[in-house]
Amino acid sequence: MEAAAHTVAPVTGRFAPSPTGRMHAGNIFCALVAWLVAKSQGGRMVLRVEDLDRERSKPHFADEVQRDFEALGLTWDAGPFFQHDRDEVYQSALDALDAQGLLYPCWCTRADLHAASAPHRGEKPVYAGTCRHLSERERAERAASGRAPATRLMVPDRTYALHDLIQGDYQQNLATECGDFLVRRADEAFAYQLAVVVDDAAQGVNSVVRGMDLLCSTPQQMYLQELLKLPHATYAHVPLVVGELNRRLSKRDRDAALDELLMRFKTPAGVIGHIAGITGLAPTTDPATPEELLRDFDLDKLPALFPDKVQILWR
Ligand code: GLU
Repeated sequence: MEAAAHTVAPVTGRFAPSPTGRMHAGNIFCALVAWLVAKSQGGRMVLRVEDLDRERSKPHFADEVQRDFEALGLTWDAGPFFQHDRDEVYQSALDALDAQGLLYPCWCTRADLHAASAPHRGEKPVYAGTCRHLSERERAERAASGRAPATRLMVPDRTYALHDLIQGDYQQNLATECGDFLVRRADEAFAYQLAVVVDDAAQGVNSVVRGMDLLCSTPQQMYLQELLKLPHATYAHVPLVVGELNRRLSKRDRDAALDELLMRFKTPAGVIGHIAGITGLAPTTDPATPEELLRDFDLDKLPALFPDKVQILWR
């Protein structure tokens, strides 16, 4: 079993927004915890705009997201870094994996994947390995079809374990609970898992705070770190802020988007204070700046703040 190493000083956290819309209450909550975790340890923050998905990422959202962070007092010390101009770096990571004989082309469509995989504990579908086992002839036939393949990384039958600062102990066997995963998509975009691992290391990030939905990606990222000889980070996966009926808040939820929040709570401190109050970060929903919340923030008490570690109802 592989265990994540402990963070070494200086602590470097990150904001890693995808510029696909305005910030919403869930993103703000996650960013606030990331900032408090880093700053309470005398650390620094990096801002990385995750604009890997060129179709969904819009430059005006990248600008707005920076203004949103600034307005909320969620300051960063390095960046902004962008993913759109880092293809060469991602390509050399891909080459390093290829040199280890771990990559193969995959022609499975979304529909194939759906039909062939059994979702595990409702978490994520496990790739059945269909294209891993193609014969040379089958591979040549598919290549001749002219349809571009994606690139998948073979995973070992190994369990990766980590101690998450909020979720506690978590482990996942990559072969049985994940399967070979994408490192490059058929449209040639580098996959999130690869880019995030390369960028976190390049930007010195050793404290990752993000939504609970990404906990199941962490073992994949630890495996990539090992293959690319990059250090592990410490992890804290925050509960998701959800709407009624467990619906995930999205950037399309007007009621929870920052411009609506500013109308409802009047000031950035009003927004931060409300989010801190309803999530358990602060005892009241009174207006507060991140700096003010930092004074009473105790990293050791972080897990106890969230009785429900999976989700928090937006109100
Ligand atoms: N860019 C992702 C998001 O906005 C976060 C990815 C990560 O934190 O690793 O949801």
